[in-house]
Amino acid sequence: MRVFDPHIHMTSRTTDDYRRMADHGIRAVVEPAFWLGQPRTNPGSFADYFDSLLGWEPYRASQFGIRHHATLALNPKEANDPRCKGVLDLLPRYLDKDGVVAVGEIGYDAMTPAEDEAFAAQLELAVRYELPALVHTPHRDKAAGTRRSLEVVAACGIDPGMVAVDHLNEVTVAMVRDSGCWLGFSIYPETKMSPSRMVEILTQYGTERVLVNSAADWGHSDPLLTVATGRAMLEAGFTADEVDRVLWRNPAEFYGRSGRLDLSPPDGSGAYAGSSIARGGS
Ligand SMILES: [Zn+2]
Repeated sequence: MRVFDPHIHMTSRTTDDYRRMADHGIRAVVEPAFWLGQPRTNPGSFADYFDSLLGWEPYRASQFGIRHHATLALNPKEANDPRCKGVLDLLPRYLDKDGVVAVGEIGYDAMTPAEDEAFAAQLELAVRYELPALVHTPHRDKAAGTRRSLEVVAACGIDPGMVAVDHLNEVTVAMVRDSGCWLGFSIYPETKMSPSRMVEILTQYGTERVLVNSAADWGHSDPLLTVATGRAMLEAGFTADEVDRVLWRNPAEFYGRSGRLDLSPPDGSGAYAGSSIARGGS
């Protein structure tokens, strides 16, 4: 089984995670920019983070034979902090860079006017830079938040085939499928979506435009739940080809629309190009 995790926050994970992921067939990841838990107080803090997502983290992944790309954005939660607004002016310079395969995570957290503004502005950036967009849906008010997200996507005129709406569940899957957007599902250890519930959804709705991710981050999460979902699919009677479509070809097609996705095996032997002191840590 080859696996492409289309949404995972490796910045928050350890080398042990990378090793286990590689051992289980995870060969490619996309890391969306997100909220790091500790509030950032200025756009420069984001610039360093974006540089890390495009330099240091791909290097770290390459040591384990894993290809790493990123999506960049001002995340919904920090869109509410006026100190972070300047990130929207930083983004154009970053969206030009090779390792960026989408604008994201964008969308709603608490559905505030500040989030409305950042969401619309960043969808426009996706259109302007001909990049896909990764849309986070809020964990509270999931159905209302997803419906409103789809309205914003439709209003901005972006091709729905360039948009993935993430963190879906049984309640929101049908409306997103009908919109023409891609359907993202985050598989969690205890709450929200589980491998067995994911198999039920795939049985009912099919594998087209479906993306399965671990969304593993600094919270309770598990980077191997994509693999567990593949196994659950096989046990339920899906073919190896259907598993490959969901866990490899679908994310490759979606992010491939950036024109920048490189899924060749990384050369893990090279030195990190971004810093002369990269090997200085102990
Ligand atoms: Zn995330």
